[in-house]
Amino acid sequence: MRSWSIPVGRLFGVDVRLHLTFFLLPIFIYWTEYSAHKSANGSHDLALAGIILVCVAAHECGHMLAARRFGMAPKAVILLPLTGVTLYEEPRAEKGQPAAQMWKREIRLALVGPLVNLALACLAAAVITGMGRGIELWKTPFLQPGSLLRSLVWANLYLAILNLMPAYPLDGGRIQRAIFARTLDLSAATRRAVSISNAIAMVLIFAGPFSDLWLSMVGVVVFFAAQLEERALVFQSVLDNVRLEEVMLTDFATLSPADTLEDALEKAVHSLQDDFPVVRGSDMVGVISKQRILDALRAEGNGYVQAVMNKIFEVSARQESLSSAFRKLTARNSSIIPIVEDQRLIGIVTLQNLMHSMALLAESRKLQRDETEQ
Ligand SMILES: [Zn+2]
Repeated sequence: MRSWSIPVGRLFGVDVRLHLTFFLLPIFIYWTEYSAHKSANGSHDLALAGIILVCVAAHECGHMLAARRFGMAPKAVILLPLTGVTLYEEPRAEKGQPAAQMWKREIRLALVGPLVNLALACLAAAVITGMGRGIELWKTPFLQPGSLLRSLVWANLYLAILNLMPAYPLDGGRIQRAIFARTLDLSAATRRAVSISNAIAMVLIFAGPFSDLWLSMVGVVVFFAAQLEERALVFQSVLDNVRLEEVMLTDFATLSPADTLEDALEKAVHSLQDDFPVVRGSDMVGVISKQRILDALRAEGNGYVQAVMNKIFEVSARQESLSSAFRKLTARNSSIIPIVEDQRLIGIVTLQNLMHSMALLAESRKLQRDETEQ
């Protein structure tokens, strides 16, 4: 989900990325200006694109801050030319949460963005009227690089209206999905919303050349934004639905607390593992990483695994989900989870092997789903 976008900084502690389609915007504005007037002012066109970027960022800030209030943790936001896609740390649909609350929260969360733009439009209009320098608010074309202040008002109004279109993941589409989710499960509701959204995007793209090219631009953005959301959703569904037993390593090396660090390093060299469970008889007594062994050897010379291993660690059961394993790994800042059954070690899950299997599983899920939809 990181492809097609570049990092541009942080806002309220959230990573902000710019989707590559944003660079189409100044080119698009320049081109439409040039074909309308046979001349165009590059710096004004760039400024108009900048205004739109700031308005989209303000819109997304509204969503992000509202999401925090609802107890969700935004992780990254990707800005597109007329909307943004916010990715969250936790699954948006926490298990066990009544659907009735979920959909109301979704609708409120969706409405915040357009409301921010509406407020900004009113503010800008008030400032312009207050200045009384004869900027005509109602003169067409509303969005024009030649009149940046008037464009500020109208860009916000357009953003508010466009984002209310029922094209997921625009806010109107989110509201629509929330309504679908009252009777369908979340992933089925999202898929229905995405197919409606793709249809709308196609109509806009093809209608553009016959009416206004901005429609084609909107269609392209809706299409890309829907793809981004869908990928995040596949990722999340893998996290929620795959059990640890499906990805755990059952053929793995262990160390004994009585091993010397040099012996342990010798074993580690001959294994692909970066992390090892430490086992005495049939008891799990600790975990240790290749790096920890190396560091201890460098700092204090040879010693015993017993002395440097990590004795505090989380274990998981085979039926637990990948998302629970990720939570445990990040909470303890560890890179291995032993899988235990009847107090017996039956497998391990390491960060390394989770990352690897995640990518494979996401691909195979998408393939399976594409097949069932055909
Ligand atoms: Zn929005």
